[in-house]
Amino acid sequence: FVEQAALNREKLLQGISPEILRQVEKFEFLFTISAEKLKEITAHFVTELAKGLSKQGGNIPMIPGWVLELPTGNETGDYLAIDLGGTNLRVVLVKLLGGSKFETVQDKYALPDNIRTAKSEDLWAFIADSLKAFVIKQYPNKPSHALPLGFTFSYPASQDAINEGILQRWTKGYDIEGVEGKDVVPMLQKALSDRDVPIDVVALINDTTGTLVASAYTDPETKMGLIFGTGCNGAYYERVADIPKLEGRLGKDIDQNGLMAINCEYGAFDNEHVILPRTEYDIQIDAESPRPGQQSFEKMISGYYLGELIRLILLELHSEGVIFKGQDNTKLSEPFILDTSAPAISETDSTPEFSEIESLIKNKLGINTTLDERKFIRRLSELIGNRAARLSVCGIAAICKKRNYETGHCAADGSVYNRYPGFKERAAQGLRDIFDWTVEPKDYPIVITPAEDGSGAGAAIIAALTEKRLAAGLS
Ligand code: BGC
Ligand code: MG
Repeated sequence: FVEQAALNREKLLQGISPEILRQVEKFEFLFTISAEKLKEITAHFVTELAKGLSKQGGNIPMIPGWVLELPTGNETGDYLAIDLGGTNLRVVLVKLLGGSKFETVQDKYALPDNIRTAKSEDLWAFIADSLKAFVIKQYPNKPSHALPLGFTFSYPASQDAINEGILQRWTKGYDIEGVEGKDVVPMLQKALSDRDVPIDVVALINDTTGTLVASAYTDPETKMGLIFGTGCNGAYYERVADIPKLEGRLGKDIDQNGLMAINCEYGAFDNEHVILPRTEYDIQIDAESPRPGQQSFEKMISGYYLGELIRLILLELHSEGVIFKGQDNTKLSEPFILDTSAPAISETDSTPEFSEIESLIKNKLGINTTLDERKFIRRLSELIGNRAARLSVCGIAAICKKRNYETGHCAADGSVYNRYPGFKERAAQGLRDIFDWTVEPKDYPIVITPAEDGSGAGAAIIAALTEKRLAAGLS
């Protein structure tokens, strides 16, 4: 893969003008992360994970998830699950069948326009109306009892119990007033009761925790649940005794030697800006976001920001008269006009003159490109995609080091993991660089594997585990 990439680079840059070549080299310098740097970042990450678990806390929230057991695979029953994603609300009916098997029926409801900045009531009304429609469709004769629901809420939410979640802050460009600092479970429960929808919200689950548990249900080698998507984050099982901040918050029945799922919220890694090689473009993305100073790591690597990063660079080069000479930059000046499909398409364009990049830039930005400019965009996309993948694995490596995992499966989901070209290979290479593996890629001991459906099955399994605990009179 590395050799191939070098060959491709040479071929790509053949005959390019010295002026554009200088730009390529500048961005190669800014966006290339050496093995040495990855190791340094990982080492700092390990100390930050521990700090987050301490009583005084740190930058990384390390939120205890109140999932106190590993699923056995024998959990059974019917559960509802919802996942509020970037473009859809997904509603799933999960039938846990035991024997590590499950079936799902699902519907997707398109989020209303501008939901990211809607009013709190509108958000809960939309979710409750969607759930009502789903229940009527699946249970034409009204269910005989309230249906248990697992709510996948993919934002940092503090929990003192599994059925609560106090939103610390919105991420990924969400900015809905009146929710931060509040428990979201009663807000959803009230919207449901107001509409007479027979649903009991029994568990609130981060998407990474759902991914962890769903994957552990079918694969006992699972060590963590990861999302590489619009946002980025990971969850893993920590020893209760190694979570000092739980002291005084636990029921007497909880075993110190047992495990608890931790939602790291490591998108917040390096909010104090001591280790990540932030460029002026990363700093600008942060400064112009609704929550400056938050999610520093996420803003360099997750899908919500990759297209924006390219836009800022193209805009700067246009204003310096280097590219798109004499063309109108009105559209190029519009924040977030390019999403992650822009670098993704640019990286997969295999036409001799990059005609896919040409139409992308023409259609999205109304700009005509020269071959050199298209080559530049191709190379820039590779650099941004590669940087994202390499930085992404520092979180995985840090969890492995913290828990002394030398082998295992890291279950991953999300649009970047599933659809961004080359992400998987680059991520594996990043891990190899950190751990100095010398074996063939197929023998790498820590493997990123495709996750089970975390926000459907995972949420349902957690709801089932919760009901079992409650029935047994445990806290
Ligand atoms: C959120 C996390 C979430 C991640 C992936 C981040 O922005 O803070 O809670 O797990 O995105 O969806
Ligand atoms: Mg999601």
